[in-house]
Amino acid sequence: MMPELPEVENIVSCIRNILVNRIILYTIIKNDRLRWCIPFEIKQLFNVRVFNVYRRGKYIILKLYSGYIIIHLGMTGVFSLLFNKLNFGKHDCLDLILDNNMIIRYSDCRKFGFWLWFNKEDKNFFLDKLGPEPLSENFNCNYLYNLTRLRKISIKSFLMNSKFVAGIGNIYANESLFQSGIIPTRLSMNINFNECVNLVNSIKKILSIAIKHNGTTIKNFKQINGKLGEFSKYLKVYGRKNKLCKKCNNLLIYIRQNQRSSFFCKFCQS
Ligand SMILES: [Zn+2]
Repeated sequence: MMPELPEVENIVSCIRNILVNRIILYTIIKNDRLRWCIPFEIKQLFNVRVFNVYRRGKYIILKLYSGYIIIHLGMTGVFSLLFNKLNFGKHDCLDLILDNNMIIRYSDCRKFGFWLWFNKEDKNFFLDKLGPEPLSENFNCNYLYNLTRLRKISIKSFLMNSKFVAGIGNIYANESLFQSGIIPTRLSMNINFNECVNLVNSIKKILSIAIKHNGTTIKNFKQINGKLGEFSKYLKVYGRKNKLCKKCNNLLIYIRQNQRSSFFCKFCQS
């Protein structure tokens, strides 16, 4: 189970507080074999100031004096904050040594995450392909309605495609579709304007609540601030296979859609 947008947003807020305006003195690499090998620009960082830390989709971006580090947590990427140098454990990958003696450590037991280097943000293979942020004004009912008119794909696949909207993820796509009464298998082109209004509102509301509650508690994943995600108790359909609908008490349906789990209620959603 991979960290989704709310989890990443919370990690970004924590790292931003620690890193902005600090200087990375150097890095110590313990294992550079992530999804892609950690590039030499990151290995050779020396006395460089961090200007900003922000999120785009599920990517974490560190804006440094000399360029950009783009980080993706993959399935199991975890940050921790150390106050002293500590021996590396089996799954640890790298340390950022800061000028205030703090150390940010990245660990990743399945190694699907990555750390890459870019000189310019706008020439970036990953960020160029992303649709609008779901919590931004650019993601609105007109945008969703216009873009779905010609799409013969299910609305759930549409929401999960980051070129249409960045980083909603499986948990929050399932929950938003339940809240707006739309069945995940409906064709995108058949969603009417009012349903687009409801869906956009549901997505924004659910993601905002999830961010407030530190995301959903996920196996192999801990917040850098040590807080556990508490959104799981608000889940209405996700992960509730063979359970009853919280609205109408009928059995929820579980199907696989594009290799991902979909949960819905055939009475509350159409
Ligand atoms: Zn129901």
